[in-house]
Amino acid sequence: MLADAFTREVSKKVITPKPHPITVAYGDGIGPEIMKATLKIIKAAGANIQEEIIEIGEKVYLSGNTAGIESSAWESLRRTKVFLKAPITTPQGGGFKSLNVTTRKILGLYANIRPCISYHPYVKTKHPVMDVVIIRENEEDLYAGVEHQQTDEVIQCLKLISKPGSEKIIRYAFEYAKAYGRKKVTCFTKDNIMKMTDGLFHKIFDEVGAEYPEIEKEHWIVDIGAAKLADTPEAFDVIVMPNLYGDILSDVAAQITGSVGLAGSANIGDGFAMFEAIHGSAPRIADMNKANPSGLLLAAVQMLVHINQKDVAEKVQNAWLKTIEDGVHTYDIFKEDVSKQRVGTDAFADAVIERLGQKPATLKPVNYADSSATIKVQLKERKPVTRQLVGIDVFLNYNNRNANELGAELEKIQVGNIKLNMISNRGAKVYPNGFPETFCTDHWRCRFVCAEMRDCTYQTMLHLQQQITQAGFEIIKTENLYLIDGIPGYSAGQGQ
Ligand code: NAD
Repeated sequence: MLADAFTREVSKKVITPKPHPITVAYGDGIGPEIMKATLKIIKAAGANIQEEIIEIGEKVYLSGNTAGIESSAWESLRRTKVFLKAPITTPQGGGFKSLNVTTRKILGLYANIRPCISYHPYVKTKHPVMDVVIIRENEEDLYAGVEHQQTDEVIQCLKLISKPGSEKIIRYAFEYAKAYGRKKVTCFTKDNIMKMTDGLFHKIFDEVGAEYPEIEKEHWIVDIGAAKLADTPEAFDVIVMPNLYGDILSDVAAQITGSVGLAGSANIGDGFAMFEAIHGSAPRIADMNKANPSGLLLAAVQMLVHINQKDVAEKVQNAWLKTIEDGVHTYDIFKEDVSKQRVGTDAFADAVIERLGQKPATLKPVNYADSSATIKVQLKERKPVTRQLVGIDVFLNYNNRNANELGAELEKIQVGNIKLNMISNRGAKVYPNGFPETFCTDHWRCRFVCAEMRDCTYQTMLHLQQQITQAGFEIIKTENLYLIDGIPGYSAGQGQ
């Protein structure tokens, strides 16, 4: 009897899981207002979270910290591994590092996920049926930040595309499509021009895509793909892109939904994740109770799915959709003909809270019950490639714009059986048999290749560079030429 009563008593007690710790930054400008509204809504919906507040942004920058984030903040991020971030103001003037770039790099947030959805007819848009998710590679490409001024006239920025970097983001895109029931993954590159870097991204897309037979796949050259996206976004579902194209096109995609103010984004890595609105700190409307908290709220929804509180995520987003559908709008999306009530930040938050538990009638409700919370990607084991040195590109700073004179001088240099093969200027072949019409800068690529592999060693390359220097030329950099698994691992000169 006593045992039965005890069992009944225990089973009545609901075991509440421990709150999930998250790091929160209130940011600058409208940041504090929209963060307060967002936290109020998600907590009212039952989010089981414990916030650790950190200071980032303008105040930290102006205190002399060029990174915009205190070192103690990293400790919080290391503990919680989840960051809900309001927008910050980057002070005017140079010397301040982008906090977003720093956070992405330090925490290894390789994937940027931005759902771009239109809410027709409640938010004015030219694209009523748009529902596209842009998945952007976040760590490499031209954003590696490796730039050098090499000559008076030429500055170089290195575009770095890696096999693991590409594989990680492409696998993430396919896993995301699987987790969220999406049907198609499109890849944008410019591999008709950048055959090696973008070519690698495309090749890995084809390779990884073959492992997902249930998902439709397609590749577009980024220029015409971007035009198609801007014109007919309903033709796309999930789009995966290298960093630069993704940066530009995720803004275009968000804008054409009707309002950048409604988009949230997630930055995901293997161990960490950061969630934020895509807009900035809008200082002109700060402290006026006017700002739309929707971008940050939808980022918080992504966070709730990530920390496996999918039921809360669903409840919040459906209530938000119902609020939009009911015409309760902040000033930025308010339109006399469709909106019913013009509200400020706080009243908008209260309107969403009033609708918790309701679903939209016209807009498509969300369902996260079947989506996987955390997407994990596993890289494929790859066999190491074979590399054979076959020559060297020697880059010269040379002021005389005459390619034939340079060629004639370099032909005189004899080291083993290594021979001048061609000279190019800004990629176009100008020697031998160049066109006099080709404009040349002071930056010359002089390609030397070995006639026989026997003498093709690093020593030969060093000896060649000594001879070039002794002949009075200034070498600004070199690139070794390799056959990779027997195939040239370098591009030909244009016109070669
Ligand atoms: P912004 O996104 O802050 O503002 C652009 C326009 O959109 C403004 O008219 C603004 O009033 C409006 N707007 C933006 N968010 C809104 C919202 N939630 N509700 C209603 N209207 C909104 O861009 P900006 O003016 O170019 O930049 C302002 C500051 O934000 C700058 O210091 C910039 O460096 C910073 N910024 C930060 C982030 C970030 O923290 N992730 C991103 C972009 C810009």
